[in-house]
Amino acid sequence: MLAGYAVQVEHSRGRRFPEPPHPYRNDFQRDRDRVIHARAFRRLEDKTQVFTRRYSDHFRNRLTHTIEVAQITRTIAAALDLNIDLAEALALVHDLGHPPFGHAGEKALDAAMRAHGLFFDHNLHALRIVEDFEQRYAAFPGLNLTFEVREGIIKHSRDYDSARHPELSEYLLDQRPPLEAQLIDLTDEIGYNTADLDDGYEAHLLTLDQIRAGVPVFENFFREVEQRYPNVADKLKFNEALKGVFNRLAGNLITNTQARLKQSAIETLPDIRKHKERLAAFTPEVEAERKQIRDFLYENLYYSVSLAGEKDDAERIVTELFDFWTNTPSALPHYYQEKAGQESLPRVICDYIAGMTDHFIIEQYEKHCGSTR
Ligand code: MG
Repeated sequence: MLAGYAVQVEHSRGRRFPEPPHPYRNDFQRDRDRVIHARAFRRLEDKTQVFTRRYSDHFRNRLTHTIEVAQITRTIAAALDLNIDLAEALALVHDLGHPPFGHAGEKALDAAMRAHGLFFDHNLHALRIVEDFEQRYAAFPGLNLTFEVREGIIKHSRDYDSARHPELSEYLLDQRPPLEAQLIDLTDEIGYNTADLDDGYEAHLLTLDQIRAGVPVFENFFREVEQRYPNVADKLKFNEALKGVFNRLAGNLITNTQARLKQSAIETLPDIRKHKERLAAFTPEVEAERKQIRDFLYENLYYSVSLAGEKDDAERIVTELFDFWTNTPSALPHYYQEKAGQESLPRVICDYIAGMTDHFIIEQYEKHCGSTR
């Protein structure tokens, strides 16, 4: 039984190109499957989340991060009686537009575009992937996803101004997205905040003492674990404490969102859409803890000296390749040279680079710009 404010697949605004119904999968289940079978989805395996493979084979990449977010999202969507199929499709598609080399790659690509008065945005890029770049079906371009999945790709993590983005006007920019989409931004954070502590500790870039001192909510759970399991290895205590943090964030998101729905007397999907703010949220106390974890990770991991070299390499590779193709468009593959006839050259180069895996962009760099070392 879905809640009254859940998205009902029978009420979907449908696809750009109408298709006959499938005998045993509803439209959101089909969209979920189309995302999983997309080439861009498979490429997530070789895109950096935070760490490159240089450190270990155990770290998350964008694909395993995406699977974790999908799992968290399914659980929370089920607890809130939301549409699990839609929520899962949105989780699986949420990072599809990310360029190689994680945040550093994105920053460099955006900077290269800004030099031409343009910009790079991974949500908008994801929309271009599913609307245009994926070519799988004879009857239509792209994946022909339902309106609700396309809307969620754009609106899950931020609001777009309709004056600045007239091309997005069909996505009801003056309204809040459904709860299924609102969840993604928060389940994404639950996923990477806990996973990055885990990977950072495993990589010996963060010490246990450092995490205990810098993340009070982790310290609270760690003390409990130490009393309960005084004789087990530190790594197991760490795991138990991290599990405590994880469950606290997920549990709080469920109960607080339920409370906010009740407080605002939300009963229908239009109630969610018309509400003045997003309703999926942590309590202020847990929101502050979430922010503490995030700030800790920025300071001690993302901007750490240990990862600085890797980030500099990433920025240099993206920037130099962008400049190379700007000056030598004839070196682009034919498909992109043809596209440059219809769109601006920087946009075409940006699309090409954004789609690349870490491995492929390094190969391109070595081919056109010289050694990466
Ligand atoms: Mg993500």
